[in-house]
Amino acid sequence: METLKEINLLQNKKIAIIGGGPGGLTLARLLQLKGADVKVYERDVNREARVQGAIVDLHFDSGLKVIEAAGLMDAFKASYMAGADKYRMVDKDANICLDETNTDVEDDFGSEYFRPEIDRGELRNLLIESLLPDTVVWNSQLENMELADTTWILKFKNGTAANADIVIGSDGYRSKVRPYVTDVKALYSGATIIQGEIDHPETNCPEMYNLVNKANLIAMDTGKTIAAQPRGDGGLTFYAAALYPENWVQASGVDFNKSDEVYTYLVNYYKGWNPIFYTLFKACLNFIPRPLNYFPIDQNWKAKANITLIGDAAHLMPPSGEGVNTAMLDALDLSESLTGKYPNLEAAIAAYEQQMRSRAAILGKEALESIKDFASPSEESINKLVQQFNTIKS
Ligand SMILES: Cc1cc2nc3c(=O)[nH]c(=O)nc-3n(C[C@H](O)[C@H](O)[C@H](O)COP(=O)(O)OP(=O)(O)OC[C@H]3O[C@@H](n4cnc5c(N)ncnc54)[C@H](O)[C@@H]3O)c2cc1C
Repeated sequence: METLKEINLLQNKKIAIIGGGPGGLTLARLLQLKGADVKVYERDVNREARVQGAIVDLHFDSGLKVIEAAGLMDAFKASYMAGADKYRMVDKDANICLDETNTDVEDDFGSEYFRPEIDRGELRNLLIESLLPDTVVWNSQLENMELADTTWILKFKNGTAANADIVIGSDGYRSKVRPYVTDVKALYSGATIIQGEIDHPETNCPEMYNLVNKANLIAMDTGKTIAAQPRGDGGLTFYAAALYPENWVQASGVDFNKSDEVYTYLVNYYKGWNPIFYTLFKACLNFIPRPLNYFPIDQNWKAKANITLIGDAAHLMPPSGEGVNTAMLDALDLSESLTGKYPNLEAAIAAYEQQMRSRAAILGKEALESIKDFASPSEESINKLVQQFNTIKS
């Protein structure tokens, strides 16, 4: 790994990245390329501890740009899921309204419209494999930390401790690092997603499996949506979104650990839809309700010299296909600021945070607007979406 000699601000500094999601791992890679001393402390017991969820698409001017900067484009090309970026849109009767799966447009990494999908677990693997051995310290769930003179003492749930000169919080929405940076709290967006995971959909719900056709499926009717995507391991993930009051998950009376209760709820909610969609709910044994929260888009705080945030920990927003991409872009910007020509660490972190918050404010506003259209689409917003797909295709 190439080491740059002119790292000034990071000379003799130990950096602790809390959270080994896409943001934290990307940052570790980029900083190691610059010769920095980095550890990633991750809550998961080990690399295999958890399925990382469905696929994510990386974008030309964010995720893919960062993959290139990290020297990982070849590894990415070997791991992405060709064809999974295609869309299929159906109505509530399961009639196909728009279909990209039957077009033979070549994958083009030079096109700004090409958004290749990758399984989250694969993305995590390729980032981990790019790091120096033992960079990730597994089973390290941060509980709290304190500053002793200029050194952070990090305390983990498993009873261990570590120290660092600079702490980067990339520990997602419920960040334990964030309160040391700002006391701005998350707000509820008004939308909740019920996420379902299905193993072996080819046998457990074959008609739906065929309808999804290894692509991104969106089923929409006025006021209601279901989205389904393949997982890298052959499974399916689906999202049933709706506008619900805050705390609806607790108030609904539905026990989300009991799949038959959730099934009954969803069949009732999607009454009048083609029963093929009910086979999706029937085949699902693992439902996860997700109230979608966000940090206010005008949030602000004063930069500190020894701590900052990236990704969801910094700017959680409702899903809009930008979260992983933005976390990776934060990692690139922060790595460049920390190794750039700033007079001191506080100035470097202030410059990064300003750039990060401005970008997140724009994306967060768009995400808030689009999540309502997604969870409860009007006829106008459905037409707008069809138009968008057609524009991208042409
Ligand atoms: C339903 C849904 C669908 C989405 N779909 C997309 C999509 O298609 N495309 C897209 O770009 N984005 C999508 N997103 C958003 C995306 O998942 C996030 O924005 C992205 O994962 C943020 O990356 P991150 O690295 O900041 O945090 P995370 O991915 O949340 O990673 C945080 C890491 O920190 C670890 N951690 C947490 N707490 C601690 C602790 N105390 N100590 C140590 N480690 C800790 C966690 O185990 C995890 O590994 C979606 C989100 C949701 C909810």
